[in-house]
Amino acid sequence: MLSNADFPVYSYPEPNTMKVLLQRPLYDRGADPEQVKTILSDVRRRGDEAVKEYTRRFDRVKSTELWVNDEERKAAAEKIPAELKEAVAVAAANITAFHQAQISACVHIFTQEGVECWQRVLPLERVGLYVPGGSAPLFSSVLMLGIPAFLAGCKEVILATPPSRHGSIHPAILYAADVCGITRIYKAGGAQAVAALAYGTESLPKADKIFGPGNSWVNTAKLLVQMEGTSIDMPAGPSEVMIASDSSADPCYVAADLLSQAEHGPDSQVILLTDDPELPKAVRRELERQLPALPRKDIALQSLKSGFAAVLKSRHQITDWINHYAPEHLILSLSDAESVLERVKHAGSVFLGHYSPESLGDYASGTNHTLPTGGSARSYSGITLDSFRKYMTVQRISPQGLAALGPHVEVMARAEGLSAHQNAVLIRAKQAGTRARSLSPDLPSPRPSILRLTPYSSARDEFEPEDALLLDANENSLGSLLGGENHRYPDPHQTLLKDELGSELGIEPEQIFVGNGSDEAIDLLIRAFCEPVQDAIIIQPPTYGMYKVAATVNNVRVLEVPLQPDFSIDLEPLLAKISAARITFFCSPNNPTGNLMNPESILRCAEMSPGLVVVDEAYIDFADQSGMLENLSAAPNLIILRTFSKAWGMAGMRVGMALGDKRVIGVMDKIKYPYNLSRAAQTAARRVLRKPKERVDQIRRLIGLREQLAAALVELSCVEQVFPSQANFLLVRVRQAAALHSFLKSRGIAVRDRSCELYCDECLRITVGSPRENETLLTALKEYDHG
Ligand code: PMP
Repeated sequence: MLSNADFPVYSYPEPNTMKVLLQRPLYDRGADPEQVKTILSDVRRRGDEAVKEYTRRFDRVKSTELWVNDEERKAAAEKIPAELKEAVAVAAANITAFHQAQISACVHIFTQEGVECWQRVLPLERVGLYVPGGSAPLFSSVLMLGIPAFLAGCKEVILATPPSRHGSIHPAILYAADVCGITRIYKAGGAQAVAALAYGTESLPKADKIFGPGNSWVNTAKLLVQMEGTSIDMPAGPSEVMIASDSSADPCYVAADLLSQAEHGPDSQVILLTDDPELPKAVRRELERQLPALPRKDIALQSLKSGFAAVLKSRHQITDWINHYAPEHLILSLSDAESVLERVKHAGSVFLGHYSPESLGDYASGTNHTLPTGGSARSYSGITLDSFRKYMTVQRISPQGLAALGPHVEVMARAEGLSAHQNAVLIRAKQAGTRARSLSPDLPSPRPSILRLTPYSSARDEFEPEDALLLDANENSLGSLLGGENHRYPDPHQTLLKDELGSELGIEPEQIFVGNGSDEAIDLLIRAFCEPVQDAIIIQPPTYGMYKVAATVNNVRVLEVPLQPDFSIDLEPLLAKISAARITFFCSPNNPTGNLMNPESILRCAEMSPGLVVVDEAYIDFADQSGMLENLSAAPNLIILRTFSKAWGMAGMRVGMALGDKRVIGVMDKIKYPYNLSRAAQTAARRVLRKPKERVDQIRRLIGLREQLAAALVELSCVEQVFPSQANFLLVRVRQAAALHSFLKSRGIAVRDRSCELYCDECLRITVGSPRENETLLTALKEYDHG
């Protein structure tokens, strides 16, 4: 049946012929747009009467009933064989599953402080589904349109389909409609059906959107009503398949897939691309063999006449051709289908491997078969659940949001010469200015719920403790078995400690938060300034793990901007992301790497950040720089963390600090638990503050020990690298971290294996010990070296 001119093979065509070969034939739409316009306006004027008249004329139908009645629907079900019912049930279940999974969460965010924007998703209210009758009853299209329409929540779903000469609708279409839950079926086809759906008639309400395939009359009518404001699913043209195959493909399968597309219609497009010069010959032999047995062989042959096979040089060329053509269906019958898929940019629906014929997607695998044709896959998608839904955007601006964003809008409105726009902002800003709640333009506000809290105040604040009879806190009035004042709650405001710390650090007591270790400050900052789910913090791995832990338990997102391989700040990507974060954490000296972070980079981040920039200086006393305390006044969003756990030698007492702007500290004090620092801890911290000289001596000794230990470690053969450290620990790259770690463990020596951290492969973190401890450690390591 196949002549040489049918489905020709082009072997290694010149690259410049690609565009010519892939040019789709200009297909004759058949329908005369002027005639379609006449039908549209006639139906618009005369409604159902005009529809009946065109149905009688074009479909040669005698009966004039326009709606399918209940008896017809019931009778249809009885005519469907059990095996078809079962197949429809399986297909419907898969289509439901795939489309249901597309239900996605709507966006709801604060784009900036006080500017809340979100989406509401709403179903289209009334949709019209067009399903052709004609030569094949496309009941599968009923499932592909009806199921997502109901899943999306469309209230009214109306099916229009042309009747047979006897005025009946194919039972399979009626049955499929019933499976979807469609009860309103309008017996009309062609342009007149589209007109009825677009404009409405006496019996048919106007549809908001029209879906479905059809002949040229239907498509022309859809395009025309679209220009008048009724949406349509997509422009439709003849169906297409492009198959990319290599020597791993079975020519029988390839030919069968080409024919399954070719039988759709004489204008269907079928194209085979391959890098195997033998494959096209074998495929042609198979086409010859399979074609004569097909009932629609004449249609298929017509289609094959405009199809072709091309033998191309490489996978690269194949993907170029695919992307240029942008096929409706693409079958990748290749040994490396997945990797080719990565490079495919334009296709409606893709079938991977040798066992994924297009037919499965056409009917039953679950994906939608209503797909973009004619190259429109470059910009259109096939039908999805969202084709039946729309998104409404909503925004709510707080006075503080208006104060921050309004001035920019005024500038833009002025630049466009739209002063009424500018006024709409100005008029409110005048009133709202005094009401804005922002901490200041330079500082982020805490979560709105925190603004409503009143700070904890103790009734005792109003008494002189020495003279007062304290019967207000349910303490044990007979005293503590520990003695002293331990039966009394501690000072919730930590007034004496903060006063003394203030003079030690040269800042005001109101700039100091003290809590249960600096870990408490990390948690409180995230809790106070980050809205769960929508806000994010930035961390820079490898770094201290608590930032991520605190964010995670508070359900706050974590954005990671890794340090560079030399453990310095990667400023460019950090600045690119900084506006997305409410808090950016720096650790300097960093745990576990031991290096200081560049203060200029941190200040630049503080300048660019709309949120807080937190510098954790837990180990700063061991460094050769003094930290960033003196920058507090210049950068109001800068917060510094310090701790009594390291240089002050008080890890057991749990005292840590956050130092920064009074307003931020005020928020932390507002939400902390009243007695977050025990009486013993407050007393102990005040006591060590009185030993500055001893502390300086101790720090000096520790730094000396660190350098000695580092020098001794590099001499060992199990040690590959000791990273320079400004802290009281060393990051040490060893030959086999896990083995060495467990060896040390067997000797009763605990160190931290940090191999799992970024850029820290085979690294142990070793705390600098006392002279005796370091000696014991080094002896064990030397033994390891020799054993
Ligand atoms: N920050 C860093 C970098 C740390 O390494 C640690 C503890 N290892 C802390 C904060 C927590 O210290 P604190 O004992 O003050 O909670």
